[in-house]
Amino acid sequence: MIPYGRQDITEQDIAAVHEVLASDFLTQGPAVPRFEAALAQHVGACHAIAVSSATAALHVACRALGLGPGDCLWTSPVTFVASANCALYCGASVDFVDIDSQTWNLSVPALADKLVQARRAGRLPKIVVPVDLCGRPCDLSAIWELSREFGFAVLEDASHAVGATYRGEPVGSGRYADITVFSFHPVKIITTAEGGAALTNDKALAEKMALLRSHGITRDSGQMTNSPEGPWYYQQIELGYNYRMTDLQAALGRSQLARLDEYVARRQELAQRYNRLLAHLPVETPYPVDRGSRSALHLYVVRLMKQAGRDRRSVFDALRAGGIGVNVHYIPVHTQPYYQALGFRPGDYPNAEAYYRSVITLPLFPTMTAAEQDRVVQVLTEALGR
Ligand SMILES: *Cc1c(COP(=O)(O)O)cnc(C)c1O
Repeated sequence: MIPYGRQDITEQDIAAVHEVLASDFLTQGPAVPRFEAALAQHVGACHAIAVSSATAALHVACRALGLGPGDCLWTSPVTFVASANCALYCGASVDFVDIDSQTWNLSVPALADKLVQARRAGRLPKIVVPVDLCGRPCDLSAIWELSREFGFAVLEDASHAVGATYRGEPVGSGRYADITVFSFHPVKIITTAEGGAALTNDKALAEKMALLRSHGITRDSGQMTNSPEGPWYYQQIELGYNYRMTDLQAALGRSQLARLDEYVARRQELAQRYNRLLAHLPVETPYPVDRGSRSALHLYVVRLMKQAGRDRRSVFDALRAGGIGVNVHYIPVHTQPYYQALGFRPGDYPNAEAYYRSVITLPLFPTMTAAEQDRVVQVLTEALGR
């Protein structure tokens, strides 16, 4: 089976992890701040907070932005459930903005309309979470402008977009987001096994997230309510969690980061090859990004056109039967039973649902060979009866 995604681990990565294993610290040692500094420098952000997953990063980001009961967070229905769940963890509510049928990202005109209505009803969101689906940056400057007008914070879920650029600047630079979140799960662009990070240019937000990552405990006397009682002293000043990244993970992450641009370039190359090889088939390939921007191409998704005359299920099954590890990203979050119990219904976000019914994720990973890619195209062509 050719998988839809696969990590690439080199001898250098293994050596970096071995070095930590033989050192004094497996966690809370020097590898974590080293990885954070490298990550912040790579994307041009002031602060990077490494945590145990992107889900943890979204949670501490929402807490740092002050999300709580009575507040609302908006996101796209076409995402992994974690982009919405982070609001529920904080006791806040969730609402969705339908996607744009071309880019498959949250629709900015739909967002603007919903904001105008929400202002009238006195129910503006505290946070909007744009999701850079498949690694393609959202229209971040337009969302940023709306955030200044309507007073919400922008928490960018860039789990797919590590290594992407928007208008010439790396995603994560913080130009158009208060906080940007990355995921380092093995199917994503670079990996730490499990892991994630939150990037920001705001020192207070960075300090708050670092505090929440580790139980809300501080050893900084400047943050304490009284002077330290001795060298052992610490204070818990918030209700935090154990969301720490280990030094093993951070060493792997720093070693992987050195190959990030190479990985994205290879993904671009393979995607362009897919675009050419699929041009004669009745499938819609990913919409081109604007000049000056670059998708990290975490996922290569195709949409079956009506003229294919085949339903998604039959094409999907034929691909799997032919040894192609295709997948579907994503089941719209509002149709999940948990969200239906909150009052959402199928039919609420028609573009998201139409997208879901017609998409298939084809294999794409940096070590994929041309022969493997040819095989995917061959099985897809047969599945479409061409
Ligand atoms: C993978 C993913 C997450 C969660 O990442 P973890 O590191 O597994 O917690 C969140 N949002 C999106 C869009 C993702 O794809």
